[in-house]
Amino acid sequence: MSDLATNIETLNSHLTRFRETGILNLIGGESRPAASGATFETSSPVDESVICPVSKGEAADIDAAAAAAKAAFPAWRDMPALERKKILNRIADLIVERAEEIALCECWDTGQALRFMSKAALRGAENFRFFADKATAARDGQQLQSPTLMNVTTRVPIGPVGVITPWNTPFMLSTWKIAPALAAGCTVVHKPAEFSPLTARILAEIAHEAGLPPGVWNLVNGFGEDAGRALTEHPDIKAIAFVGESKTGSMIMKQGADTLKRVHFELGGKNPVVVFDDADLDRALDAAIFMIYSLNGERCTSSSRLLVQESIADAFEAKLIERVNNIKVGHPLDPATEVGPLIHKVHFDKVTSYFETAKHDGATIAAGGTRVGDQGWFVRPTLFTNATNGMTIAQEEIFGPVLTAIRFKDEDEALTLANETQYGLTGYVWTNDLTRALRFTNALEAGMIWVNSENVRHLPTPFGGVKASGIGRDGGDWSFEFYMEQKHIGFALGHHKIPRLGA
Ligand code: NAD
Repeated sequence: MSDLATNIETLNSHLTRFRETGILNLIGGESRPAASGATFETSSPVDESVICPVSKGEAADIDAAAAAAKAAFPAWRDMPALERKKILNRIADLIVERAEEIALCECWDTGQALRFMSKAALRGAENFRFFADKATAARDGQQLQSPTLMNVTTRVPIGPVGVITPWNTPFMLSTWKIAPALAAGCTVVHKPAEFSPLTARILAEIAHEAGLPPGVWNLVNGFGEDAGRALTEHPDIKAIAFVGESKTGSMIMKQGADTLKRVHFELGGKNPVVVFDDADLDRALDAAIFMIYSLNGERCTSSSRLLVQESIADAFEAKLIERVNNIKVGHPLDPATEVGPLIHKVHFDKVTSYFETAKHDGATIAAGGTRVGDQGWFVRPTLFTNATNGMTIAQEEIFGPVLTAIRFKDEDEALTLANETQYGLTGYVWTNDLTRALRFTNALEAGMIWVNSENVRHLPTPFGGVKASGIGRDGGDWSFEFYMEQKHIGFALGHHKIPRLGA
């Protein structure tokens, strides 16, 4: 990785064109300003400077994008899967070619540290390769024989779909949603988060350059309450894949009700990392720190609640405090940086408000709890100790580099605490007792659980949450279940008795 000065210089060379033209929408293969001509500004959380204007799409732009996606759908659906596979692989190749540009722009737009974003760009390419390979099997069905009928099933793409993504690791998450939709044969209208539009534009350009037919992938920038809302309400959009806050998911469900929209939600979390006294404590410490403080703590799968067994809590927390105080906060383009600034002022205000909440509720701020500098949205990695599970800091998703530590006596109490939350996205369990691990994971209310590990994503496995953390699963064949309809066809063998009326 290059040094900070070189990275800034390279970033500026990539930003020149955005500064000149602003970020345009991409509809029907054409780069266009918003129909109204309106724009909004995106700014960097590093120094609050304006990066460039962004086309502010609204209902008219969503109409145009949905029309383009609808028109492009039959040909894309009917294109031989091998052709689709080639195009998706080409998209992956181009992402790899432009990985540095993507990573630098993502860091500047979102405040994420380069050490993580260079990998996230490449993971975006992997998402395309994985689903490119699966494209040829997307339609596969089953043969289900009965005495009178030969029944077959097949899958067909549901139609044009809307993809709505958040600002945390927006590039990776967009590829994660769009790649399976395209592999299934759906066309897409993507509405990225208003706070991180840069890499969504680069991604749409790459898709276009890779030879995706016009209208198959449309990009409309804008705010949730107008462009996002219009997309969820549009009659030609058959399904919405959404990643974001639980309360936004609930709104989208209501907005989509009139058009009976199919929805897939990846929502918030307040995920427990449970450390028993028989665990490998050094590894548990590394994983607990990584899962809450990497990506600025702005990750849905973060281990934001540490449940630690009383017998080891003093020693474990002491080591934790030392390590948290040592985390390097800094410019996201500095390769040494471990935590960058939070995405924007409103989020910064939200995260820092929990410092007061923690004190008010009687918890201890054992590390951090302050702003860093007076420019940009930097906060010191923070640890709350002496917390109880009923406290606001133990129940609400803070979505920043903030960990709440709670002590437990025994396995029963650990399980109760772990499950006492509205969320159920991930859980991390640290123990060397195999039977306990089996018992505990069996009863833990979460969509994804790792034992003696941090979150290690394996693309063929199901990704998603229970309770307020989501609806549906991504990954492997589960993605196709959302983007495709199951279709049953029964062929009569010709000898069963058909009921005769009026005979
Ligand atoms: P958000 O819900 O505020 O916004 C997400 C997207 O929804 C944005 O594009 C926004 O413009 C759009 N939106 C907002 N209101 C809308 C409406 N009424 N209709 C249609 N679209 C609307 O979320 P955020 O603050 O951008 O992202 C952070 C949240 O995302 C956190 O809660 C985090 O846990 C969650 N998240 C979950 C996962 C997961 O896999 N479960 C992954 C990443 C992020």
